[in-house]
This record gives sequence, C-alpha cells and structure tokens, in this order.
Amino acid sequence: MNLLLYGAPGSGKGTQANMLRSHFGIPHIATGDMLRAEIQAGTDLGRQAQPILAAGKYVSDDIMIGIVRHRLGEPDCAPGFIMDGFPRTVPQAEALDGLMTELGKRFDRVIYLQVPVEELLHRLSGRLVCPACQRTYPPVTTACEADGSPLVQREDDKPEAVRPRIEIYLEKTVPVLDHYRGGGLVSEIDGRGTIEDISRQVLAAANVRVVKRQTA
Ligand code: AMP
Repeated sequence: MNLLLYGAPGSGKGTQANMLRSHFGIPHIATGDMLRAEIQAGTDLGRQAQPILAAGKYVSDDIMIGIVRHRLGEPDCAPGFIMDGFPRTVPQAEALDGLMTELGKRFDRVIYLQVPVEELLHRLSGRLVCPACQRTYPPVTTACEADGSPLVQREDDKPEAVRPRIEIYLEKTVPVLDHYRGGGLVSEIDGRGTIEDISRQVLAAANVRVVKRQTA
C-alpha cells in the first residue's frame, strides 16, 4: 500500500505516519527527517541544506526529487510506503507522478490533515521534538515517552522560522493538493481532534482503499 500524507507543518503528519508504519509495517519516508540526518552526519548535502532548513525555506526541487528517486528504489519500499513531506511543490508532484509510473507504483490514498493556520502557528512555536525518534510533544513534556531522550526544540520551530514555513506552505504546497484532487484519491481529515480519534479516521481512510482493491 502506498500512502501520501499531505498537510502543513504542525498538522500531525509525523505522528500519524508513525502510527501507519506500525500498523502496516511499511517504511515512513519523511524528507525532512532525511535532510536532518544529512545535516547531523555533516555530508555535503547536509551542509547545503542546513541554512535553508533553519530559515524555513525549501530545498531545491532537483535535490529533493533526486533524494526521493533514490529512496523509492530501495527494496524495503517494494511492499509499500508512507510518504511525508514530499511533494511540496507542483514540479515535485509532477516528477513524482513520472517516478511512480517508472516504478510501476501508484498511490492508494492521499490523506490530508487539515488544520487552520492560527492553530498551526500555535502548535509549531513551542513544540519540542525527540532527537532520537522525531516524535513531537507540546512544551509541557521534557522527555520522550517512547525512549526517554531529553526533548529539544527544532531549529526551524524557533519563532523566526515558523511564519516563513507556513507562508511558503501556503504559496508553494497548497497548490499540490489540487494536483491530486482530480484523481478522487484525497481523504480530508480534520486534524484538530485527539490523536486517537484522528488515527481512527486516518486508518479508516487507508483501509477503505485496501478493501476496495481486494474486492475489485
Ligand atoms: P519537515 O520535517 O517535513 O517539516 O521538513 C523540514 C524542512 O526540510 C522543510 O522546512 C524544508 O526546509 C525541508 N524539506 C523537507 N521536505 C522538502 C521538500 N519536499 N521540498 C523542499 N524542502 C523540503
């Protein structure tokens, strides 16, 4: 099963992707996590990407498409994958269409977590993250509930980067949704309930497609 999680920064994509990964046993491809791993490892790409991430801007389409092309060709993606954070621009979406066709794959569902802008700004400023597993927490928590790591603030969750991230999302990423709407694949889910309630709806959206394909 190939799933695409779509939504703004702070909409809960990472949390739901973790849930889907455990549930279906397929990899979570998060382009933001991949870039942060490159930064951590001090690679050339990491050095190039670091100031871009810190400013809340987008890494170039060519670089991102190259990263995703390489990742989707890896054997663990064969049974399916959960894509998170890509495509973020219309050219990325068009390149992904071509790549999926080349690989003989297609998306079973696009799951859109909808959260109003004011709520996103509130969630992102103050959000803490586990440096080991990338789970996010509100500022009242100090250690990761899964692995006990002390939580840190992502550089791009600092106030000066939060607004640019939302602005670039509105300008470049909102049009990506229209790219997928025509195919009838998009499930819109209100991202403001409890995590459990949203997870139930996300699973239902993913499973609808599985059931349809099995009975077709
Ligand atoms: P995320 O963890 O998905 O919020 O991504 C963190 C940052 O990584 C973004 O603010 C961008 O700077 C960069 N990034 C991640 N995915 C992409 C993408 N598909 N296109 C461009 N930049 C990206």
